[in-house]
Amino acid sequence: AKSRYRASNPKSWAQHQKAARVLPGGNTRTVLFSDPFPITLASAEGCRVTSLDGQTYTDFLGEFTAGLYGHSDPILKQAMMLAMESGWVRGGHIEQEEQLASLICNRFPSIAQIRFANSGTEATLYALSSARVVSGKNKVVVFEGAYHGGVFTFGAQVSPLTAPFDFVRAPYNNWEETEALLNANKDDLACVIIEPMQGSGGCIVADPDFLRALRDWTKARGVILIFDEVQTSRLAGGGLQGVYGIEPDMTTLGKYIGGGFSFGAFGGRADIMERFNPLRPDYIAHAGTFNNNVFTMSVGVAGLSKVYTPEAAAALTSRGDALRNRLNEIASNASFPMQFTGIGSMMNVHMCEGPVRSIRDLVGSNLPLRDLFYFDLVEQGYWPARRGMFNLSLPMGDAEISGLTDVVARFVRDRSALTQ
Ligand code: PMP
Repeated sequence: AKSRYRASNPKSWAQHQKAARVLPGGNTRTVLFSDPFPITLASAEGCRVTSLDGQTYTDFLGEFTAGLYGHSDPILKQAMMLAMESGWVRGGHIEQEEQLASLICNRFPSIAQIRFANSGTEATLYALSSARVVSGKNKVVVFEGAYHGGVFTFGAQVSPLTAPFDFVRAPYNNWEETEALLNANKDDLACVIIEPMQGSGGCIVADPDFLRALRDWTKARGVILIFDEVQTSRLAGGGLQGVYGIEPDMTTLGKYIGGGFSFGAFGGRADIMERFNPLRPDYIAHAGTFNNNVFTMSVGVAGLSKVYTPEAAAALTSRGDALRNRLNEIASNASFPMQFTGIGSMMNVHMCEGPVRSIRDLVGSNLPLRDLFYFDLVEQGYWPARRGMFNLSLPMGDAEISGLTDVVARFVRDRSALTQ
């Protein structure tokens, strides 16, 4: 499969070699690294991307959830053009930042006030910093497999902002072990940060009772609970916290909300967020040239108010649920060791059987088979994440969804035939 991949993508190979001279590994985004080399994209439209080599793919990566609107939404384009015509580096407040803030605060009852940043990483670092300042404590509980604690870690090596934090790593969906860790560290905890579904960890769904236990424990002891909904906010109008009816003290957001432009946000309880009010003598400074950048704010407002309404979110989530159920049916009917975990428009393939409740359950999964699956999909014109993540986008129609179903069914049939 890899040799066919090399042969079909000569321009991407040449581009990768050029890039590797000036970018370590030819790469400036670790998640896009792909052995033997990544395909370079030249353009995109609707739910399709086209490579330098002229191959067109149905985009099931959806820019790791940020590509929710697809690549050419007319309403977003109009907002973008309007922003461009009005000048886009103004150096002052703009109306759209209040509008975007209001839209988000109205959807998330737990977010009384919010501040914007340039990425989910930055927003999350600021949420941790504010928890630390407000609590006067240092320790941060993160979870194995999480964006903050597992495969992808932003530790002190990435940002000096993280340097003061002292991380405690707990097992996801395992209340007994988590509670013991919380109790052992209870006097030093600034906050607990958790994704209500682990995204980059492999779309591992939280047990609502686990989240509730965490909420109850932290509330009883005044420890700040942060939900990282950078990825999961797309799953319902008010994010997964709305679905589960659990209110964290703070929430971080990002990805699609900026309509495809760099975006991050953190918000929550009024008494915590009030600490950012510059009128206070002890305010927390939060500058950032691009925090209110005109493109992000304008396109973000158009997207949330006119395109991704709570009704549109519910519809996309049920389409995703139907697709995931269908794919799982294909695998289980063939007794093939493959499953798709996730919720709604976000899913991840795992080459293993049995419930996946944490990354510990993935220890025995068949990674070479997952790679084969990846190369098979790419060869047939599909664009998923190398690690097996699939995200639906709004411009996808039934044809794209049933196309993926067919390709998966063929893969399962061919591999099953080979192993019999
Ligand atoms: N939190 C989570 C849960 C994420 O998945 C990501 C990125 N995939 C981030 C934060 C960071 O967001 P960004 O890539 O915008 O920095």
